[in-house]
This record gives sequence, C-alpha cells and structure tokens, in this order.
Amino acid sequence: MVIVGAGFSGLYALHRLRGDGFTVRLVEASSGLGGVWQNNRYPGARVDSHVPNYEYSLPEVWKDWTWGERFPGRDEILAYFDHVDSVLDLSRDVDLDTRVTAALFDAESACWRLSTSDGADYDGRFLLMCTGFGSKPFTPDLAGLADFDGICHHTAMWPEDGVSFAERRVGVLGTGASGVQVVQEAARDADHLVVFQRTPVTALPMVQRRLDRDAQRAAKSGYPERFRRRNEPPGSFDDIRRLDVRALAVSDERRHEVYETAWAKGGFHFWAGTFNDILTSEAANLTAYEFWRDKTRARIDDPRVAEILAPTEPPYPFGTKRPSLEQCYYDVFNQSNVELVDLRATPLESITPAGVRSTAAEFHLDVLVLATGFDANTGGLTSIDLRGSDGRTIAEHWAGGVDTHIGLAVHGFPNMLMLYGPQSTTAFCNGPVCAEIQGDWVAGLLDHMRRNDLSTFESAEESGEAWSAFLAVVAEQTLFGRTDSWYMAANIPGKRRQLMNLPMTDTYLERLDSCAANGYDGFDFIAS
Ligand code: FAD
Repeated sequence: MVIVGAGFSGLYALHRLRGDGFTVRLVEASSGLGGVWQNNRYPGARVDSHVPNYEYSLPEVWKDWTWGERFPGRDEILAYFDHVDSVLDLSRDVDLDTRVTAALFDAESACWRLSTSDGADYDGRFLLMCTGFGSKPFTPDLAGLADFDGICHHTAMWPEDGVSFAERRVGVLGTGASGVQVVQEAARDADHLVVFQRTPVTALPMVQRRLDRDAQRAAKSGYPERFRRRNEPPGSFDDIRRLDVRALAVSDERRHEVYETAWAKGGFHFWAGTFNDILTSEAANLTAYEFWRDKTRARIDDPRVAEILAPTEPPYPFGTKRPSLEQCYYDVFNQSNVELVDLRATPLESITPAGVRSTAAEFHLDVLVLATGFDANTGGLTSIDLRGSDGRTIAEHWAGGVDTHIGLAVHGFPNMLMLYGPQSTTAFCNGPVCAEIQGDWVAGLLDHMRRNDLSTFESAEESGEAWSAFLAVVAEQTLFGRTDSWYMAANIPGKRRQLMNLPMTDTYLERLDSCAANGYDGFDFIAS
C-alpha cells in the first residue's frame, strides 16, 4: 500500500495499517513530517484548535507530551510531530522530498503505479491519498504581479529563512485565517502596514494563554474521556457543544448570556457552541452577527474603519466563512502605522513595480504578502496526473463538479481512498479527529476485504451521485449556500460552485458507521 502525504491523516493511517499487518510506504513532498505545518511557516502561523484537541488520542503519544500554549504555534506543532515520530517510529517507512507527480491504476494487475519527482516509482494494491485540503496555494491572476520590485511571497510558500518586516512598508492582500495571523505580526514590526480587505473576516477572540505543564500532567487522567467525546458524535472538540435550543426561543437576556459565555471561552466556542439554528436560520444568525459586530466595533477607534471591518449589515451570514481567531487583530487598526484599504469600495487595479494600485491610490510597498488561500479540497489531488481505470484523470472526472462516495472514494478509481478530502466533513472537523476516524474506518474496510478474500473495491457511480445530491440539499437547507466561500469552492475561478465539506460532523460519523455496518454499502467488491 502507498500513502501520499505525511500530515495527521497519512501518519495516523501509516501507524494504524502497519499495526494491522499491511506493508505500507508513505511518500511526502516536503522535507519533514507535519503536513500543512511544514509549508505554512509565515509569521504568526498558529492553530485555531485548542489543547488538547489538536493532537492524536493515542495514550503512548499524549502521556509524555505537554504544550506551552493553549493555541500552539507552528514551531511547537512541528516539535510535536518529532515526538510522534520518536514514539511511533514512523520515519522508517516514509520517503521525504518525494512529490508524487502521477498515479495510474493498472487494471490488468489491479495495482496502482506511482511516479515521483525524484524518478523513483512506487507500486501498491491500495492507494491512500492524504494530500490534505490545503496543499495547493492559490494566487489570483493579478495584473502586473510579476513586475513587482519588492519581496513577494504566498503565506503557504514562505521562505525558510523568513522575511523581516522591520523598517519596511508591508502590504497584506487577503484577510482570511492566514492574513489575520500575518497582520498581527506585521503591525508590530513594520514601519507601515497596508491591509487590503475585499470581504470582512468575522474573527473571534482566541483567548490565548500560556499553559502550565504540571497542571496539564495532572489533567491527563481525564484525557481518555475527553478524546472519547471528541471522536464521537457530535465530534471534533470534546467541549464545544451546540445547545439543543433555538436562538429566538429564549429571552434576549438569556441569549446574551449564552453569547457572553461562549465569547469569554474564546476559540471556536462562539462559532460552534451556542444555539442549534445559528447556521440554518437567518433570524438566529443575525443575533450572533450583531453580538459579534458590537463587540468588535467597541475595539475600533475610527468609525469609518469600524464600518469596513465590522459593517452594520452582515456582509454574509455569520459563520458561513471560516471565522479566524485573533489576539489583537482589531486593535492594530488603531495604530498610526496601520492602514486599511477597502477593496470593495476602491477595487485593486494592478500590482505595479512599486506596490499596489487601487482605483483610489498607489500604495508603495517593500513587501507584499499574498494571504490568498488555497485551491482547497481538490487542488492537491487535481494537480497530480491521477488516472483511474478508464484512463481519465481525476481533474477530468471532476470537470463538471466533484462526486465522491461519502468523501472517501471516487467511482472509476478502484482501491483508492482520500482522507480529509472533498465532500467529507474535513474543514468542519478538527484535523486529528478526522484523521483518526477516517483512518480507523479505512482499517475496517481493509480488514473486511481480508476476511472475505476480496481484492478490489470500487464505489458505485450512483453512490457518488447520491452523496453529491445530499450535500446540495445541505447547502440549500443551511446558510452556507448563500455565501461565496472556499467551503462552496467559490474562491477559484471556473470551479463549480458546490458545498465541498459537510458542516455536520455528527451526521458524517453516523454515515461512516452505517456504511460499515451495512457491509460497506455503495461499494462493489471483486473477489481475489
Ligand atoms: P495535510 O496536513 O495538508 O498534509 C498533506 C501532506 O500531503 C502535506 O505534507 C503535503 O506536502 C503532502 N502532499 C500533497 N501533495 C503531494 C504529492 N503530490 N506528493 C507527495 N506529497 C504530497 N485544522 C484544524 O483542525 N484546526 C486548525 O486550527 C487548523 N489550522 C490550519 C491552518 C492552516 C494555515 C492550514 C493550511 C490548515 C489548517 N487546518 C486546521 C487544517 C489542516 O489541514 C488539518 O488540521 C490537518 O493538517 C490535516 O492533515 P492531513 O494529513 O489531512 O493534511
């Protein structure tokens, strides 16, 4: 078996399947373990999942590991992966600096054949694509970008040696999760910082804090229960739970109290831990937006700037774009060295050799940071020459839109599974949780095949169509379908607009269970 990708998903699958007696080789493009955290080395890169959720639930891994911060930064996460490697002895089955360029299913031998950037070939009966939802950075087609005379990098391709912002004029294009993190760093160091905003982000207070190592050790007796809760419906976090009550079914005072409590906890509590209809009812959603808006505006001195960052009317239903977490994002706009440009009012015209020109002015810059996101969910897969049994690439299969069976398998691609991929719960599920749940499910499927002497599986065409139809209904019945976001594949020109991840982790977990319990419904098998 070949696994592609050494992030949480690929490494868990390697550990699990090796333990089940499979011969596994893992191939990774970057120079170390850790997945997105290898390449996302931009200033301020930090996880938005609080301790102890962004780690494996394996006792042999957590028993000797403690974190320094409630929301760990990139360096600490990479140190964690070193720890995982030393405990689980993973590296002996990993080939680093090896990018898979092509993978072809050879129907005659029922085997996957892979080609890589360093010329090495790999064969395997099963192929596990763990390439992540964010492994293909996206840079918009900006006129003049190649002519910029200063330093310019995408956040996900930041140079290893870093870039100093000190005594420089810095521009940040994009205000999603990475943009918010970079802005907070650049505002501290840069001579002058220009933030180019197209759509306001609804960033939430992180409530970061240093963690006491002794207190963490003492809390470990509760970890088995916490991890059990995290990996079961509703899933994702052990302590973020929606109330079983509608926002408008309670008094104004009670609603305010619920919002204040979630706000004070920080992290994703305000997004995912209040009322059960925030993401389905416009009226309920508005109450959350207004609470967020008023809290946020109270921190911004200039009413004009406040209206751009936290408009009176919601720019989109709250929570249908991923809320970022912030520590001082809104406060930095009160600093004299920080300037906000509203690209809705004065659109970007071009990048010039000296900086960025909008319809209103030219902004001279020494450094331009492209915090412009990813060709999320599918980009990592479609950039590989990945061909199924009919010889067509996966990009060709998905030209008219993505179709998968429960976000794991694609008709025409036998013996191939994708973890943390399109049409799974992916971006709505905490990364390590999804890695473990899907990794265990894959182990169950392969065990089923081994016990029943089955050599090949393939998802049925109609099961992919049915899953896509289900996601379309979810987009319609929630507020997600109303917003142009990367959840809806709307950030990439030409990509079909469709809901790319299921925003109901509980439903997803139940569907995985029912699929396995029904003898892996939606899959066809061939006997050995
Ligand atoms: P990844 O970590 O993306 O790993 C995929 C690996 O595949 C990469 O190492 C990549 O180099 C490799 N790869 C891709 N293509 C090839 C190829 N052709 N050949 C060989 N190797 C290849 N999730 C959360 O739950 N909480 C968070 O707070 C959070 N913050 C995030 C912040 C950032 C900046 C980003 C980008 C993502 C964040 N995520 C977060 C999502 C994150 O992707 C998951 O948490 C987790 O990394 C998923 O692990 P994975 O193994 O599925 O994928």
